[in-house]
Amino acid sequence: MKTTLVWFRQDLRLRDNPAWEGALGRGAPAVPVYIHAPGEAGEWAPGAARRWWLHHALEDLGAQLAEEGLRLVLRCGESAGTLMRLLEETGADAVYWNRCYEPFRIQHDGRIKNRLKEAGIEAWSGNASLLREPWEVATGSGGPYKVYTPYARACARTTDPEPVTGRGEEARPPEQWPRSQSLEDLGLLPDTPWDDGLRSFWNPTREGGLGRLGAFIKNRMPSYADDRDIPGEDGTSRLSPYLHTGQIGPREVVAALRRHPEGRGRETFYRELVWREFAYHVLYHFPDTLERPLQLKFDHFPWRREAGDLRAWRKGQTGYPIVDAGMRQLWRTGWMHNRVRMVVASFLVKHLLHSWRDGERWFRDTLVDADLASNTLGWQWAGGCGADAAPYFRVFNPITQGEKFDPEGSYTRTYVPELKNVPDRYLFKPWELPASVQEAVGCVIGRDYPEPIIEHKAGRERALEAFASIKEGR
Ligand code: FAD
Repeated sequence: MKTTLVWFRQDLRLRDNPAWEGALGRGAPAVPVYIHAPGEAGEWAPGAARRWWLHHALEDLGAQLAEEGLRLVLRCGESAGTLMRLLEETGADAVYWNRCYEPFRIQHDGRIKNRLKEAGIEAWSGNASLLREPWEVATGSGGPYKVYTPYARACARTTDPEPVTGRGEEARPPEQWPRSQSLEDLGLLPDTPWDDGLRSFWNPTREGGLGRLGAFIKNRMPSYADDRDIPGEDGTSRLSPYLHTGQIGPREVVAALRRHPEGRGRETFYRELVWREFAYHVLYHFPDTLERPLQLKFDHFPWRREAGDLRAWRKGQTGYPIVDAGMRQLWRTGWMHNRVRMVVASFLVKHLLHSWRDGERWFRDTLVDADLASNTLGWQWAGGCGADAAPYFRVFNPITQGEKFDPEGSYTRTYVPELKNVPDRYLFKPWELPASVQEAVGCVIGRDYPEPIIEHKAGRERALEAFASIKEGR
């Protein structure tokens, strides 16, 4: 009898999901499956924060399926072998899934597709993650883009796709459900409970994401163009983890924003969604960028790799308030504001001369939205060595960035409470506070809050010198 396995991965939703709609469209019973196979991603396996999110997203998808009288079958193990076993157990004649774009998955999926076809099984894949496939947008000569603006212009010449809807077929359960492992068997939650902050900051369900999307578009999108750079404001959508797991799809986001009047906020927000698409475009066409800078001359960059500096950066103990606030926000909530991501990344790569890969790795472990495409693009952008990157010689000043984007310090004081009573004037350079005032406000530098790990000007000059050495091929 016809039965379809629907293999869920980064598309954990039942609406605007081509594989799911396609499976229902076959008019056959559907068996939704999630296979936990972290070994297949090697060093790119989900980090601790993303595993936490995944646990809840799977729980939520299971609950949505249960409402339709279905189950989510969970299995741990190698994907191809597990799918083959499930095909035997269910007698299914087709596997439907949505594409992932990480280089190792593309190779792996290709092999699975061939194996299924050889076994006479229908293997179908669709697009649940992107507005445009990475290969659909090309330069005049048919190549990939390395710069955002012409890429975005090329996208604008085509129409955004609408969310995928099926013909309204009801999902049908199989006569007998295959065995499922429990969600706990996947071991996604931390052994020691460090996730209180995440739990109070996020609702990692589709409903939580849709609520966020609706509220953002109505209340925040009109002023997004101005507010998006102010970390103390709740001025951005915070949809990134939902988009990463596919609990919400970009087609759904675009359809929602188009229902609202045009304006600067809407256009700016749309452009950010296109940055996400650009990240996938770059990763697809330049898969080596996971490990190597797109600009190969940076292969020879003289990184310092000072373990103590890296530790201070990770813990938010650099002595630069805006950097420390960002790193502590990341640790507490699993997310960091984009403006501050740029500042902390620049600080690690330029002031501390640590490779962008060290920062990428830490973000990958601690961000709930850790996404190989966007994280790699973001880090290579900050390191001046990627696609459309900030030039290496442009070094963010961590003092003026704080003064400009968090002038009253509401963000910084939230995450660095030692500085709570430091006057605004000194907030981003507290080491300049006279000693008597330091005592009076309860923030003695070197006792209550660290000395700056490196003096800004010295760090900047050291970075520029290191850059000059690769430019001149020394
Ligand atoms: P909004 O401002 O509301 O933007 C809406 C959506 O657009 C985001 O959810 C995201 O999907 C997309 N977007 C926005 N800015 C970017 C961008 N610069 N690049 C790609 N997509 C973007 N984003 C991730 O999703 N995962 C990552 O691992 C990641 N790592 C980053 C690392 C560095 C060093 C930097 C500088 C940026 C990184 N970003 C990453 C991009 C950006 O910081 C986040 O997407 C954004 O902060 C998420 O918050 P939001 O959903 O409120 O964004």
